Amino acid sequence: MMAVKTAQGSAERSFKLSFEFFPPKSEDMEGQLWQTVDDLAAWQPDFVSVTYGAGGTTKAPTLSTVKRLIAETPLATASHLTCVGASRAEVAEVVEQFRAAGVRHFVALRGDPPTGVGSLYTPHPDGYENAAALVKGLKEIDDFEISVSAYPEKHPESPDLSMDIDMLKRKVDHGATRALTQFFFDNDIFERYLDKVRAAGITIPIVPGIMPILNLTQLKRFAGMCGASVPIWLDARFEGLDGDAGERAKVAAAVASEQIADLRARGIEEFHLYTMNRAPLVNATLEALGCRKAASANDTSTGTLALV
Ligand code: FAD
Repeated sequence: MMAVKTAQGSAERSFKLSFEFFPPKSEDMEGQLWQTVDDLAAWQPDFVSVTYGAGGTTKAPTLSTVKRLIAETPLATASHLTCVGASRAEVAEVVEQFRAAGVRHFVALRGDPPTGVGSLYTPHPDGYENAAALVKGLKEIDDFEISVSAYPEKHPESPDLSMDIDMLKRKVDHGATRALTQFFFDNDIFERYLDKVRAAGITIPIVPGIMPILNLTQLKRFAGMCGASVPIWLDARFEGLDGDAGERAKVAAAVASEQIADLRARGIEEFHLYTMNRAPLVNATLEALGCRKAASANDTSTGTLALV
C-alpha cells in the first residue's frame, strides 16, 4: 500500500510543468515508479505522461500505469501512443481501451522501427505512415487533446531541419496543440529552432524537454542515438565526480535548473521533465529554481489518497 498525498495548499511555481514516466518492467521498478509519483505529485504538475513502447510492446504496462494514475491520483494524465507496426484498426482498438480508462490526452508519435533507431521505417500496409497521419486519425476518433514530438536538432531521419518543421506543421494542421521536444542542452539551439518554427507559422507551445543528467556517460550514448548533441562544457561540470554520487547529483540539479532559468529568461514558460521514474533529481532541480511543493497531509483524515 502506498500513498499519494493530495495537496492541501498550492505548489508555488510561476511556469507550467509536466512530468514524463515510463511503464515499469519489474516489481522493483513498479515500486520505484509509485514512490516517485507519490513524491512528485506535490509539485502539482499540469499533466504527467506515460511512454509507450515501440511496436506496442508495452501497451499493457502503459495502459495499467495510465489507468492507475487516472483512478488513484489527482494527476491529469496523458498517454503516449505510437503507430509503428499497427494497422489503423489496431490503433483504433488500442485507443478505445485508453479512452475507456479515461484518457483524453495523447502524446501521438510514429515510433521507431523494431530494428532500432536509424533503420528504415516501414509503415504497416494498413497503418499510419507518420505521426501527422496518426494525429489526423486520432482526431477523427474523438476530440482528444494531442501533443506531439519536436526536434530542435532535427530528427535523425530528417535530411534537414526544414523537413522536420514541415512535419511539425502537418501535425499541427491536423490538430496537435502542443509539442514536447527531444532533450537538448544548448539553449541557443532551441531558440534558433523556435524562431524557425514561428517563422513557419506554427504558434502552438513548443515545450522544452528537460533531461536531468543521472549519468553523463549513459546520456551521451543515448543522445547519440537520438541525434541530440551533448556540449563539451558538460564534461567539465562532471569532471572528477565519477566516484561521488552526492556531488554528481548536485551538479546535475544545478545544470538542469540553470537551463530552465535561462530558458525562462528567454520567455519560455512551460517545461516537460524526463523524470526517468526518479524523484530526487527532479525535486532538487525545482527547489534550486526556488519552487516549493504544495503543503500536503500525511494522514487520511486530511486528504491522503490511497494507492493500493
Ligand atoms: P514523426 O513526427 O512522424 O517524424 C519525425 C521526423 O522524422 C519528422 O520531423 C520528419 O522530418 C522525419 N521523417 C519521418 N518520416 C520520414 C521519412 N520517410 N523520410 C524522411 N524523414 C522522415 N518513442 C516511443 O516508442 N514511445 C514513446 O512513448 C515516445 N515518446 C516520445 C516523446 C517525445 C517528447 C519525443 C521527442 C520522442 C518520443 N519517442 C517515443 C521517440 C519517437 O517515437 C521517435 O523519435 C520516432 O523515430 C519518431 O516519432 P515521431 O512521432 O517524432 O515521428
